Amino acid sequence: MANHQFDGRALINGQRVDARDGATFDCISPVDGRLLTVVACCGQADVDAAVAAARAAFEDRRWRGMAPAARKRVMIKFADQLLAHADELALMETLDMGKPIQYARAVDVNSAANCIRWYGEAVDKIYDEIAPTASTGLALIQREPVGVVGVIVPWNYPMIMAAWKIAPALAAGNSVVLKPSEKSPLTALRLGDLALQAGIPPGVFNVVTGYGAQAGSPLALHTDVDCIAFTGSTRVGKQIHIMAAQSNLKRAWTELGGKSPNIVFADCPNLDKAVEAAVGSIFFNQGESCNAPSRLFVEAGIKEQFLEKALALVPGFAPGNPLDPATVMGAIVDKTQMDSVLRYIEVGQREGAKLLAGGAQALQETGGCYVQPTIFDGVKNDMTIAREEIFGPVLSVLSFTDAADVVRQANQSVYGLQAAVWTRDINKAHGVARALRAGTVHVNQYDEDDITVPFGGFKQSGVGRDKSLHAFDKYTETKTTWIRIDSPV
Ligand code: NAD
Repeated sequence: MANHQFDGRALINGQRVDARDGATFDCISPVDGRLLTVVACCGQADVDAAVAAARAAFEDRRWRGMAPAARKRVMIKFADQLLAHADELALMETLDMGKPIQYARAVDVNSAANCIRWYGEAVDKIYDEIAPTASTGLALIQREPVGVVGVIVPWNYPMIMAAWKIAPALAAGNSVVLKPSEKSPLTALRLGDLALQAGIPPGVFNVVTGYGAQAGSPLALHTDVDCIAFTGSTRVGKQIHIMAAQSNLKRAWTELGGKSPNIVFADCPNLDKAVEAAVGSIFFNQGESCNAPSRLFVEAGIKEQFLEKALALVPGFAPGNPLDPATVMGAIVDKTQMDSVLRYIEVGQREGAKLLAGGAQALQETGGCYVQPTIFDGVKNDMTIAREEIFGPVLSVLSFTDAADVVRQANQSVYGLQAAVWTRDINKAHGVARALRAGTVHVNQYDEDDITVPFGGFKQSGVGRDKSLHAFDKYTETKTTWIRIDSPV
């Protein structure tokens, strides 16, 4: 393996190892096109080894056999390790996927650490149950870890997406094999190192790096994997369910794409706040967020005023060097994704949407991947840019006449991840929130988020929920134990 600043070897059974056949791929920074390191390009043999290590750790109970309070202490140490290495992790995340360093540090590292701590703290506060049966005996209802959990995550929030799955899975006593995205594999490997340092036994948490077809599919198809938890595109998510079913009917949980509607009524309580949220949320993380409010519906009467205010904010989101602590919009994850975003912008113009801001690549001289913050007006719900997930800094603005009209348009999507409604009228807020087919609906804000609330989607935005105590359901089996009682009294 080449001598680089970052160790790109896989983590199997507590050891950093090269891929069995020695294959690697280049890890290129979208910040400036530099080669960061080479990374193990794992395949079937590496996945087999990682799953075997995870299975052995599960069977000998080195982790699940620990009392919940003991696992809790280790998970809390794991979270502390993230914070102790916060600067290193933030720099790695920024170099690897291009997000501004201020957010990598304040959002990504802190959220991932908080998630790991929260599930650690929760795990010794969950009680089993006794069923109120008709029998005089006892029926105990207990949760057991499901076994070996495969986790496949995307590149947009590499640490957070991993933490949302590995934290509840590990806290519940499972063994895990994590496959990060080939576009941003570095922090996942460091999470593996830090878990070991915190005292998670070798083999319990393994990380295999590589491409989807070579490393992801073998994990999803593996007959010794009991559960596959996936975050990524709807296209691949559908394949995950098929692979899970055709192999061993493993449990499959998917967090997929979105095209979230953000609905602003003319009676919105604070227009400036609504504008800031609409613009800030679509451009945050370069628009590479599954829950980005990419369809903005503004009631016809206030649309001109709204757009004027929105356009005034756009220069504040000009892309800059992500390593500069003042930068708010960084680089797109790689050239392929940047080209895809630019293609959508072209299609938007071709289909008749009106380009109000941006629309082009930026900072070409850096050798990195940057796109201007882009706003389209005059978008119709059946245009490609309103239907498909762009996953870039592109806002589509639509308009509507009344609540019934906007609910119909908002729900006219294969996705159902998030939505927002802005109004002073409590009846309208509740009524529209109830009618929207989305896993989360925000009222008069867009940015609230907390580990205590479930996250996931309706329709083709996926199956299951991350975060909150609900996530434990994904990584535990429910077991009933009947006990006969022949009472002497
Ligand atoms: P992607 O589906 O291309 O890849 C996701 C992961 O799956 C990667 O690790 C990839 O290597 C792997 N993969 C690809 N093909 C595979 C295959 N055939 N078998 C097994 N694994 C395979 O998605 P992406 O481009 O990395 O991420 C962007 C997508 O993720 C967007 O659609 C976004 O909405 C979604 N996302 C959803 C959420 C959510 O919580 N709903 C959160 C973040 C991102």
